[in-house]
Amino acid sequence: PEPILQVRNLSVHFYTYAGVVKAIENVSFDVYKGETFALVGETGCGKSVTSRALTQLIESPGRIVNGEVIYYSDKGPIDLLKLSEEEIREIRGSEIAYIFQDPHASLDPLYTVGYQIAEGMEVHERVKNIKEGIKKAVDILKSVLIPDPEKRVHNYPHELSGGMKQRVVIGIGIANNPRILIADEPTTALDVTVQAQILDLINSLKEKYRATVILITHNLGVVAETADRVAVMYAGKIVEIGSVEQIFKNPLHPYTKGLLKAVPNPMTKIERLEAIPGTVPNLITPPGGCRFHPRCSYAKEVCKKKVPELVEIEDGHFVACHLY
Ligand code: SF4
Ligand code: MG
Repeated sequence: PEPILQVRNLSVHFYTYAGVVKAIENVSFDVYKGETFALVGETGCGKSVTSRALTQLIESPGRIVNGEVIYYSDKGPIDLLKLSEEEIREIRGSEIAYIFQDPHASLDPLYTVGYQIAEGMEVHERVKNIKEGIKKAVDILKSVLIPDPEKRVHNYPHELSGGMKQRVVIGIGIANNPRILIADEPTTALDVTVQAQILDLINSLKEKYRATVILITHNLGVVAETADRVAVMYAGKIVEIGSVEQIFKNPLHPYTKGLLKAVPNPMTKIERLEAIPGTVPNLITPPGGCRFHPRCSYAKEVCKKKVPELVEIEDGHFVACHLY
């Protein structure tokens, strides 16, 4: 498989009054061209921070303190973290686009949905002006399966249902035909029935546009249905990476095992990641060694002292745990 993104030793810290929050530490993974790669974990594990850091989308008091994000663009590999604000802005929203969780927050109530789609295209010079963009927006609304797009293009966000709004947000995401689409909990704010429709839509758009998808979710059911490969995050670290099959059939890390046990059947979409005893650690003073050791029933002496590195156990299956 050919990588489109190689993330190496990515660390993001937040400088708060209470202390330095080490939100993610030495996160490394590859994303392959054309796949759906899921980042999964509990709230606060650093999955959103990771996805945002990929294009320097970290705001103060956060700072990317370390790492490389090599993006294989059409012109060759570039480190996205070395680009200037202006250079990264050109890539963000065009070659690499985001869909965020809450469609209400992603849309501006004062502008029509057609205008908002057109604006994103105009900024990246995909259309000459807003008028041309609004014409194109009709096709985009059609491709995200919004009925009556000629009429809907002139609607304001409040005139649409939550599911329709999220389709518009996806429309803005795909308007410039991105090579990588980063979807951060794209269905969490929606009803269960609408969730399935939105996932289907993301899957079909990925095929249609040959995009690569990075899916951020806490929902293992969504991962099982949508992803090709998975990285499991815990307390700011990646603890396991593998294919969906490897992770679901042969989970290695005690945390991953716990997650899967907490969800008897991932296809039922029961969200009970909290079922593992103990709480997520404070990331100002994270536990030494393996950050999972206070909650791990397999913990040994070494686990308190030494940080386990990600090692490849079988083809493409990596785990960071002293048991291996
Ligand atoms: Fe448990 Fe030790 Fe493995 Fe961490 S390194 S998951 S504490 S066994
Ligand atoms: Mg999040």
